[in-house]
This record gives sequence, C-alpha cells and structure tokens, in this order.
Amino acid sequence: MAIRLGSWPTLAALGAASLFLLLPATEQRPVQAAKTCGSDTLGVARTVAIDTTGGPRYGLMQYKEHDFLADGEVVLTFDDGPMRRHTQAVLDALERHCTKGTFFMVGTMALSDPAMVREVALRGHTVGSHTWSHRYQLGKVTPQRATQEIELGISAIQLALGEPIAPFFRFPFLSDQKAAMAHLGQRNISAFSIDVDSLDYRSRGPGGADQVFRRVMADLAQKRKGILLFHDIQPSTAAALPRILDALKQRGFKVVHLTAKSKQTTVAEYDQQAAQEASRRKTVIATAPLSPRAVTWPMGSGAAATGTPAPAITQGWSPTTEGQKPVSGRGADDADWRRSVFGNSFND
Ligand SMILES: [Zn+2]
Repeated sequence: MAIRLGSWPTLAALGAASLFLLLPATEQRPVQAAKTCGSDTLGVARTVAIDTTGGPRYGLMQYKEHDFLADGEVVLTFDDGPMRRHTQAVLDALERHCTKGTFFMVGTMALSDPAMVREVALRGHTVGSHTWSHRYQLGKVTPQRATQEIELGISAIQLALGEPIAPFFRFPFLSDQKAAMAHLGQRNISAFSIDVDSLDYRSRGPGGADQVFRRVMADLAQKRKGILLFHDIQPSTAAALPRILDALKQRGFKVVHLTAKSKQTTVAEYDQQAAQEASRRKTVIATAPLSPRAVTWPMGSGAAATGTPAPAITQGWSPTTEGQKPVSGRGADDADWRRSVFGNSFND
C-alpha cells in the first residue's frame, strides 16, 4: 500500500490572516490575542513528545510497559467527537485554564464538522484518531476490517483537519487485537489506553456532572496520576470539566500535554475513500440543508460493513473498558442513543 506523509501546508505556516480563508463565513472570528495565564490556572506543566516508532503503547489499565507520568501528573483525553455543542464547551473550559488535551476523534464525526476539527487543533490541542465509524469492537472483527476502520478514520480526520494529525490511536471500547496492534506497530502509531475512566457516558441524567466530578476526583485521589478518559460528546463532561480543572489545580495536580515527534502518514487508497465519503456527505447536506450536522451519516463503502457490530448491552458491563454503553443496560435505549450520536450505520 502506498503510504504518504500529508503534504498540506501547516496552519501555522499559512499565517493567522489566511485562517479566515479556511473557515466558512459564519465561523470567522478574530484571532484572539494571547491571554495571560494567571497563577490560578493549570497551564501545562510539561510537554511530552512521544516517539511512536514501532508503536509503543501507553495507559496502565491495559499496557504496563511504559509509564511516563510522575506522581501528580495527569493527561486529559477526549474521545468520540467532535460534537460542536459539547466540544466547544470543553475547549472553552480548557482555555480558561490555559491547558491542553488530546482528542481522539471519530472519522465520521470529523467529516461532519471539519471546522470544529480545525478549531481543536488551532487551540493547540493534539488530534489523534479513534476509527472511522466507532461501530466495532476491533478485538472481535477480522484484521482486514480493523485495518479499514483504523486507516479510513485517520484519512478522514486528516482530510477534515487539512494537515497531518498525531500518530496516536485509541481503540473504541478499548477493545484491541493482536493483528491490529501489529498493524499499528508497522505504521508507527501509538495506542493509548487509560488510567482513570470518567464513565461520563453513564451519567446522562440529572446530577450527571456531579457524578463525573466525584468519580474522577475519587479515582485520582487513589491513583495520584494517569491518563484521564472523557468524551467530548457527553454533556456531563462538558458541564463537569470546569469544576474538575479547578479541583485539579487546587489539589496540586499537573497537566502533561502529549505531542508526537513525527506526523501521521496516510494510505492513498483510504485517502481516496475518505474523499468520496466527504463528497457524499456534502451532497446529503445540500439535499437536506436543514438536517442536523454531525448526527447522521449515510451508508457508504467505508461504513458498509460485515463483521462484529458494537457489543450487546449487558448489565454486567465492566467499568474497566471504555465505551458508549448506557447505565441502564436496556438495548433499546442504547440503540436510540447510538443512532442519535453516530447515525444509522451503527445499527444495521
Ligand atoms: Zn469511543
């Protein structure tokens, strides 16, 4: 397969003035002057540039071989987006603390709102990938299906962003497999598991933000450090994050920002497929301009899939794996929720 390094000019190289050219008229706004970060903000205590050569894995919940965090250090990660109405709140909360996170985006979501993808990067956060559709537990599909989900996701997010992302990947539901791991290794992509799970997808009712806040701070009080998992599509995280960041600061935690030493490469055939999907998406929007953005996705070659769908819901769902599974354990609710977030491709 032909692998290539993205050759787009970087956003920084284009200069702030020309950034306006990249955004639709409705989303143009002045570039904010750098603000002073007071002593009451978290800021970034340390930036760790990860060398992804050979695909080293991180996150002690699953992978024990590397631990780059000292006591009191946390990494903020946000999965499944972007979803503008919640991602924007997450970005604003991070900005108020002058701090940075890593966003593991879903390909379909990225192509549904490319401007939001660019906004995340423009604010200095790291963008990684989290498959094309988030439809599968990759641990239960064929290696071919896993490769397609991984590579089409990367190509789609890079197409949306307009420049290479970081070679950082997170398995949906933290469900990995040997062959996919070997593929990541060959592609020099690091897989990131987690240390602390906000379980924000379980806290969707009243009081959800309180639950997320208490859960994260209680777990951190015990573990004292780690990679934190949130979802920037979850209202509970969007609401709880300002308080969580305040509490991290008050309790002396330090934020570590992850960056990559090298850029993510893409595979030509998946770039083509991503471009086709993006073009089909534009057609759908043009045909039904009032349809909500980022919530529906037509079936296409990339999503028309055979294989093991996302997991059935069980009451005994373990909190040790990341996922979108609801608290209730009721399959119908789960199907509705998945449809509302990721579109029909989740359920067929
Ligand atoms: Zn996810």
